[in-house]
Amino acid sequence: MAYNPYDNVLATVEKAAKILGYTPEEYEAVKYPERELSVSVPVRMDDGSVRVFQGYRVQHSTVRGPAKGGIRYHQNVNKDEVKALAAWMTFKCAVADIPYGGGKGGVVVDPTKLSVAELQRLTRRFTAMIAPIIGPDRDIPAPDVGTNADVMGWIMDTYSMLNGHSTPAVVTGKPIQLGGSQGRGEATGRGVMLNALYICEKMGVDIHNATIAVQGMGNVGSVSARLLYEEGAKVVAVSDVSGGIYKAEGLDIPAICQYLSTRGNLLSGYTEDGITRISNEEVLESDVTVLIPAALENQINEQNADRIRAKIIVEGANGPTTIEADDILDKKGIVLVPDILANSGGVVVSYFEWVQNLQALEWEEKEVNEKLRRNMDKAFNSVYDIAKQKGVTLRTGAYLIALKRVVESMHFRGIWP
Ligand code: NAD
Repeated sequence: MAYNPYDNVLATVEKAAKILGYTPEEYEAVKYPERELSVSVPVRMDDGSVRVFQGYRVQHSTVRGPAKGGIRYHQNVNKDEVKALAAWMTFKCAVADIPYGGGKGGVVVDPTKLSVAELQRLTRRFTAMIAPIIGPDRDIPAPDVGTNADVMGWIMDTYSMLNGHSTPAVVTGKPIQLGGSQGRGEATGRGVMLNALYICEKMGVDIHNATIAVQGMGNVGSVSARLLYEEGAKVVAVSDVSGGIYKAEGLDIPAICQYLSTRGNLLSGYTEDGITRISNEEVLESDVTVLIPAALENQINEQNADRIRAKIIVEGANGPTTIEADDILDKKGIVLVPDILANSGGVVVSYFEWVQNLQALEWEEKEVNEKLRRNMDKAFNSVYDIAKQKGVTLRTGAYLIALKRVVESMHFRGIWP
């Protein structure tokens, strides 16, 4: 059967609901996205031709607050993927205990094949087409795969122009100059790093003796790699869409990040003494202390889970591990810090950005990072404790906390009318 990430979400929810002892009526509504919007986005290309791109914005839940979640530009975007990503946002915001529901958007496009001007026109038209359902108190987009601060800036400007006044709180992950928060660009990777440190400490692993592999050296992967490198860990394997590199003595992560920071640069063009070129599969299956999948969904699945040799997995990406793989990893004794906890640093600092925008405040980076650390610390420990107490995996532990918060909010709101 073809892999459908939304089935993964439903299976995880069912598992948690059973442990929590919920009747089907109590959580039935969580299984469906509240609102799904499909749009066809016409774009004038640089050569004068017109192309129409398919786009989506899905609001999975607004029970705990406005929908919140990124916008993905990728050629494989589809509605089920966006639905799953939106649902993961609901549970992620609930684990982090921030007052948001979950949403996600996407456009079926390979952004590397468009010029910057074409990307801008696509973004502005897509924003106009989803404008009826987004807004600071409705649904607040942010960056995801294939989008960045520049794209968020165009969204902010387009929405503000349509609104007739500047509306920075409509989107997070903006350039600092437009009301972006200090620390937001690094926040997801910083959260991944913190979760890796916490789990290593719980398992008695000294980070200075730990080896790390990172799949996907994009925003999340490269910051996670750099911050763990700065903590003294040895990052031995990394990859991106062009393949992977390995060096037993540890890679020069700052040099790699510097190289990748130029638009269009891929790891396949990077050189360093003593590196071996390896495949993406080999990165995932490398013999390391901590594996960080930070690319896309469905990377660790039934086919390769048995070959994973890492002791710990910290999910930088959303949904990198299938539910079948989860069981295999668990039986092998591999400890996994789940996406909705491990990569929640991004949405937590997005929340800080929104709060600053609404109050016209600017916090210093130190303050942002300290608040993020406190939030992550609390979220990690609450998940770790409940998982221990119930004898379940950290993923199930995270869903026990998240689902309970969502269901309790639904209970108090009731069903209108
Ligand atoms: P990005 O576009 O910056 O980076 C994605 C990286 O993955 C790129 O380096 C790309 O080359 C690589 N990649 C793509 N396909 C690959 C493959 N088959 N094998 C290896 N590498 C591959 O995206 P990002 O923002 O870093 O997001 C990565 C993941 O983290 C996604 O699952 C996203 O949903 C999740 N996430 C992102 C944020 C955020 O703040 N950006 C927050 C939470 C979760």
